[in-house]
Amino acid sequence: MRKNTEPFTMGLSTGVAYRLFGFALLLAVCIFAGCRCDDPRNGTSADGSAGSNAASGSGKKIQIVTTSTDFRDICKRVAGDSAEVKTLARGDQNLHGIEARPAHITMLQKADVYFAIGAGMDDWANRFIKSSGNRKIKPGGKNHVDVGKHISLLEKPAAGARPSGKPLHLAGNPHYWLNPENTVVIAKVMCSTLSKLYPDSKTDFEKGRDDFIKKIEAAKMRWKKKMRSCRGRKIITYHKSWSYFAAFFSLVEAGVIEPQPGIPPSPAHISTIIDKVKRERISVVLSEPCYPLKMPRMIAKQTGAAFLVLPTSVDGADGTGTYIKLMDHAVDKISSALKKGGQ
Ligand SMILES: [Zn+2]
Repeated sequence: MRKNTEPFTMGLSTGVAYRLFGFALLLAVCIFAGCRCDDPRNGTSADGSAGSNAASGSGKKIQIVTTSTDFRDICKRVAGDSAEVKTLARGDQNLHGIEARPAHITMLQKADVYFAIGAGMDDWANRFIKSSGNRKIKPGGKNHVDVGKHISLLEKPAAGARPSGKPLHLAGNPHYWLNPENTVVIAKVMCSTLSKLYPDSKTDFEKGRDDFIKKIEAAKMRWKKKMRSCRGRKIITYHKSWSYFAAFFSLVEAGVIEPQPGIPPSPAHISTIIDKVKRERISVVLSEPCYPLKMPRMIAKQTGAAFLVLPTSVDGADGTGTYIKLMDHAVDKISSALKKGGQ
């Protein structure tokens, strides 16, 4: 499994100028050297399936780009053989900001449709789209879909709230795909979008959507059964990535190591978390491969809690190649750690 080594804050503040410079350089390489930028290490492998695209009527597949591997998996289920679906971010990357690479520009130049996570999560992708020069998928157009607008977001800030520092999640929590019910909404949005754009294939898209929803409904029963005895149990997370998962399975997010999304913890905040874990006998500290692991590991060690590092996106770890496998993986690891930890 590839490891993410880039600091995600690069995409958010001080690294902007550096990124833009690197981005321009890569773009220049693409344009002037005429390179094909299909490096699979960039997390851009299409996994497209064989077949012709009756939908576009040109014999070519519809070219779809999604921000995340989760969206790619869902979109492939809906679009089937009609489309080739590519993704900007790898499963082990921080979706709040990634480095621009030539392969991103190449795929966006060819894209017919773009599905964004929205809710502020992947605003960075709009810069990539602008640089690609592909006006067909520009924000606001019918071929650029902000899926977050169709989701009931958690943790929406109160009107007039002014957060300190420069936190993320300013529009609400954008990690919504970890509630499988939201995954059904994503599939429906993808289906209706593609059906409007390519009406000749509407029936195929609807079949893909219905098959996917059927599988999710069956998996939900399995997941709920496994997590039933964990209802009401408390967890500590590094980032606010697990709120939708916790809400769906009735877990309690007792604390977050980041005091606000994207803001590193102070020693005082860490000390408060350690006290809380000890006092409330919290048995699981949870983080993801893209976040610093030293601090949550230390908190777990000092308190005797289990420390889990779990991906929140498809392909973020071995054995998580589909959305259902990703959720199977999370449910297995979290339920098992909570059961071992007792009360
Ligand atoms: Zn986040």
